[in-house]
Amino acid sequence: MTKILVSACLIGVNCTYRGDNNLSLKLLELVDRFVFLPVCPEQLGGLPTPRPRAEVTTSADWRAAKLVLDQFGNDVTQNYLRGAEEVLKIAKLSGVNIAILKSRSPSCGCRGIYDGTFSGVMVDGMGITAELLLKNGIEVYSEDETNFLY
Ligand code: SF4
Repeated sequence: MTKILVSACLIGVNCTYRGDNNLSLKLLELVDRFVFLPVCPEQLGGLPTPRPRAEVTTSADWRAAKLVLDQFGNDVTQNYLRGAEEVLKIAKLSGVNIAILKSRSPSCGCRGIYDGTFSGVMVDGMGITAELLLKNGIEVYSEDETNFLY
């Protein structure tokens, strides 16, 4: 069976910053047809659960943005970078080439992220892990883009 990397929160793992999950019942319909490899880059990067909200600080050129701050202003960029590297390692070791990732997350978002002001404003851009996976040849999709798998 084809292996697919998935954001762990999408299949019910309580790993979000709130300590709960983002279970997608639609995604769960696929568990008999694919091997899901659940990963949470923020946990893999050493952050606790629950944890403060964090956003990527964006600039005019979002591709230059590398700073991730939590809601209290703490710089958690290194945790995000470490988590992304760990997820990439798992992806390579497992030989996956598709990832289904939670939308809007500063780690997993692949079709836009919050703008870093904690005001709910979305901008073009990708989460730290989604971007690293894409740069390494892995197809990244949000949970809203999985119709091609059914
Ligand atoms: Fe879900 Fe990704 Fe956030 Fe972990 S980092 S809680 S897998 S969206």
